[in-house]
Amino acid sequence: MRRVILAGAGHAGAELLRQWAIDPVPGVELVVVTPEPLAPYSGMVPGWLAGHYTWEECCIDFALLCKRAKARLVIDRAAGLDTARRQLMLAGTGSIEGDILVLNIGSTVRAPTHSAVRMLPTRPLSALRGAVEGLAGDLRALGRAPELVGIGGGAAGIEVLLGLRRRLQRTGLRPTCTLLGRDDALVRGLPPGAADLARRSLVRAGVTLRGGFEAIGFDNGHVLAANGATQKADAVLWAAGAAPHAWPAESGLAVDAAGFVTIDATLRSISHPWVFAVGDCASFNPRALPKAGVFSVRMGPVLADNVRATLRNRTLRPYVPQSRQLVLINTADGAAIASRGGYVWRGRLAMAWKDWIDRRFLARYR
Ligand SMILES: Cc1cc2nc3c(=O)[nH]c(=O)nc-3n(C[C@H](O)[C@H](O)[C@H](O)COP(=O)(O)OP(=O)(O)OC[C@H]3O[C@@H](n4cnc5c(N)ncnc54)[C@H](O)[C@@H]3O)c2cc1C
Repeated sequence: MRRVILAGAGHAGAELLRQWAIDPVPGVELVVVTPEPLAPYSGMVPGWLAGHYTWEECCIDFALLCKRAKARLVIDRAAGLDTARRQLMLAGTGSIEGDILVLNIGSTVRAPTHSAVRMLPTRPLSALRGAVEGLAGDLRALGRAPELVGIGGGAAGIEVLLGLRRRLQRTGLRPTCTLLGRDDALVRGLPPGAADLARRSLVRAGVTLRGGFEAIGFDNGHVLAANGATQKADAVLWAAGAAPHAWPAESGLAVDAAGFVTIDATLRSISHPWVFAVGDCASFNPRALPKAGVFSVRMGPVLADNVRATLRNRTLRPYVPQSRQLVLINTADGAAIASRGGYVWRGRLAMAWKDWIDRRFLARYR
């Protein structure tokens, strides 16, 4: 029997499983390796922080998807790859050989640690959930207004800082919030109109904006900048960009300069065509793509088609990224910022639209 292994419960993998349940390839076993069966959907995680959703409402249940697709679920973490033997090494339960491997393991962050500062990494999202648990109690024990610092002025950093601020306020805490960014403009990666609205939302929420602050480490309860500046911090939300997991590069798969698996237009590794890589863990060779969930979602149908085409010896189709991206940022006050093409606005209607899109996406997998 041939075997397809899906490593990681990412957004594209969810679509592969959904379609496999409808149209499986006979004589092929599908195996899913994930450390946890409930996979968070990033679009709703800031809303979970702000108290709008329960954690379960924000998650795709991979145990359910595996059951429907008659796939084998292995609760473990991929830890290495023997490309010669086509063997995926697992952290706890040995190894699995496969004919096709799909990597959908997302990204991580490279954040320094310090005993006097509570670190909250934004990736993987399950780590953020773990870090947030018990946070309010620990900060209350300080006996003063806690200093909450966000590092990284991208959409995720802004949403998570505002969501976390709201969460702490709901427990009666009044955190002093600061957002640090490398550039003077601070808010990064957003169209100009959306960046302007995001900046204003942060200021309205009482967040102090400090640009030109390239965080490099911690010292005595302070964040240190490359230029010697410091910022007091009790809890730090680290959202300074996505970093790759180390083991795919160590296994000999071709990677880009940062270490993300380089893939061609059909989503296959340019060095090992039996390996597909999708979402954040991949570097799309035809053109650079931002690390955003929307690309993993849109890769899903192409991945599902191309895995089946490979098994059936048919021609693979290319993934064509959309040129215009809808950006929706939850500002944790019942409103959202929406931006597409040249249009940008902020309000409750934008939040209702975002909520509708996110819930409709998750409903596909329920
Ligand atoms: C707070 C926040 C908000 C965001 N909001 C948005 C948004 O609104 N819109 C948007 O487009 N993007 C958003 N992003 C970006 C988005 O989260 C990522 O781009 C997206 O989740 C990537 O999807 P993915 O399918 O590659 O992997 P992920 O969704 O990250 O899933 C990867 C999975 O792999 C698992 N995994 C990790 N390592 C291993 C391993 N070794 N073995 C097995 N499994 C493993 C993880 O547990 C996880 O379940 C946000 C990011 C953050 C941090």
